[in-house]
Amino acid sequence: MVDDVQRIFVPSVIEEGGGTIGLGCFSSEKIAWDVLRALLKKSEEMLLTDCSVIIWDIDRVGQDAMTVLSTMECKDCPVCSRRTFWVDLENFSALCHGSACSAWIEENTVDHEIIDCGWPAIRYLKQSKSIEEAVKELYKLGDRLKAAGVSAQEAGVAEQMMKDHFNESDND
Ligand SMILES: [Zn+2]
Repeated sequence: MVDDVQRIFVPSVIEEGGGTIGLGCFSSEKIAWDVLRALLKKSEEMLLTDCSVIIWDIDRVGQDAMTVLSTMECKDCPVCSRRTFWVDLENFSALCHGSACSAWIEENTVDHEIIDCGWPAIRYLKQSKSIEEAVKELYKLGDRLKAAGVSAQEAGVAEQMMKDHFNESDND
């Protein structure tokens, strides 16, 4: 007997100006996310504003057939400045999909009052009280990076320069 496909996963992105680009219908959540993430890496070239993954129940009539699994908004990345910083407002998380950046913000898994943020290139990790504060911390990091004259893509160079920079400015 052939397995019935009862739900499909539909990722889509919205362009500046409001046009929606559907990325296909998929039988698994994982494939839908893989397809979407591959595109989010290039979002700076495409001027996207939002994206979503929606689940549709097959052969069901009406709005109840639709479940919004996730929606995210695209912002400029506080660290690398590229428009590849995707923010999930419902789950309080954000991640830069730009190559060699991956700056992130996430609610602390233990203490929900705390918002963590980080930049893996230099194993930077900071805790804040709010999302706004976490975004500010990442902007500070981006400013220091720019002041040191390195881009996020040169992670090796960035790591050494940032270490020097933080040692100077964090001794208080
Ligand atoms: Zn970035």
